[in-house]
Amino acid sequence: NWPVHAAWNGPIVMIGFGSIGRGTLPLILRHIKCDPKQITVIDPDAAHSQLAEKQGAAFMKAAITAKNYRQVLKPLLTAGPGPAFIVNLSVDVDSLDIMRLARETHALYIDTVIEPWPGFYYNSKMPQGERTNYAMREKMLDLKRALGAGPTAVSCCGANPGMVSWFVKQALMDIAKATKTKVAEPTTRDGWAKLMKKLGVKGIHVAERDTQRTKQPKPFGTFVNTWSVEGFISEGLQPAELGWGTHEKKLPPKGKRHKKGCGAAIYIETPGADTRVRTWTPTEGPHFGFLVTHNEAISISDYFTVRSGRKVSYRPTCHYAYHPSNDAVLSWVEMLGNGGKHPKDFYVLDEKQIADGRDELGVLLYGHKKNAYWFGSQLSIEEARKLAPHNSATGLQVSSAVLTGMIWAIENPMAGIVETDEMDYKRCLEIQTPYLGPVRGVYTSWTPLDSVVELFATDLDRKDPWQFQNILVR
Ligand code: NAD
Repeated sequence: NWPVHAAWNGPIVMIGFGSIGRGTLPLILRHIKCDPKQITVIDPDAAHSQLAEKQGAAFMKAAITAKNYRQVLKPLLTAGPGPAFIVNLSVDVDSLDIMRLARETHALYIDTVIEPWPGFYYNSKMPQGERTNYAMREKMLDLKRALGAGPTAVSCCGANPGMVSWFVKQALMDIAKATKTKVAEPTTRDGWAKLMKKLGVKGIHVAERDTQRTKQPKPFGTFVNTWSVEGFISEGLQPAELGWGTHEKKLPPKGKRHKKGCGAAIYIETPGADTRVRTWTPTEGPHFGFLVTHNEAISISDYFTVRSGRKVSYRPTCHYAYHPSNDAVLSWVEMLGNGGKHPKDFYVLDEKQIADGRDELGVLLYGHKKNAYWFGSQLSIEEARKLAPHNSATGLQVSSAVLTGMIWAIENPMAGIVETDEMDYKRCLEIQTPYLGPVRGVYTSWTPLDSVVELFATDLDRKDPWQFQNILVR
């Protein structure tokens, strides 16, 4: 009895049929009324072609490149009868070039990261500040301004980046209620930013603890993850990045500011996967997370900035604090111990290979009257298997966000390029929540100072537990 939320009578072109693509296709067919024959899935790897074909979609074995993307995609996008919808779930396919083509052909568009063509992530000649998500997001914002109003293109709409931006707004409304702060629900970006400021939120962790375990222990030297290994390795070897709050007193060691752009974030000249932070989620409690760079760390800090004139009067700190599955942590330890060289063997765990566990993914808003509040999804592998085919718990949090973004785009077809922070969080959570398992809010008295090994405690700010100085493990 799943609801059909929308209808689409044009082509749907899915670029990339990896773990997320395979999880998203059945959700599209379940919730968007469309003709499966109008769907084309493109991937250079044909290992799962039958899975697409069994569902009625066409499979095209091809790698989309900077040279061929127009030639390959344009005929598909203009086949009619209605405009097309591009669902970009690949690695190595430039989001911005595909967005431009979408605009030219009046197609709607969605992706889950701002992805560049190959050659960006591992370019040792590029200054570190340019090898950041900040730099990629600035280019996306330039394109958003240049293209202006027109067919909707949703940028970065997975679980995170994506869904977590909707969680932040829900968490703010919850904290307002719990602290008896009288507020009308904001209707503008400035209103939301002022609400966060008023509530005294200093920062946000996108706090994720993935406890999914495999039936077979990971082979030595093989990189294993619960979503794209290639995606995780490329972002884990970018510099760590975080939205930089106005309450922060001290830049971290190797921390650098950007000279251009919105100014919302800094980067640290260490690989994100080798940069640890103290964080907290409800089930495990205190633990270490990796400060891997993510688009939402920057977009959330930027969105919730309060300005008077050109002066910034308030901005929250925001960053990812990710404890991936135990096998992924071990994979990183092995890989970084080997000089960051790419492993020869790697695979993404599918729902059948996982024995148990859940992906606890939420936002931890801290520094306010009630100290800290985690709001998020605690989806288990067992529940994910029951809810939808071809999805692990991690996969379903992402694929259901892609589905949600597609429905929102169909309902709002002329919004131009949008970030998930700008979307209607209530409508989005209404569509997505049935796929998220328990969605809970939990207050905690934990602060990063509680997780310091006192025998080695130096250079801490005891007066303000929520300084990044106390969060970063050094
Ligand atoms: P995956 O590695 O399992 O699959 C990627 C697929 O892209 C593969 O099947 C690969 O063959 C295909 N591909 C590679 N080069 C291509 C090309 N040139 N043209 C077309 N296809 C190509 O990755 P995944 O787990 O499915 O993730 C897909 C994307 O979603 C990645 O960019 C990843 O970073 C992103 N992601 C975002 C979130 C989020 O929450 N925002 C979460 C997970 C993944």
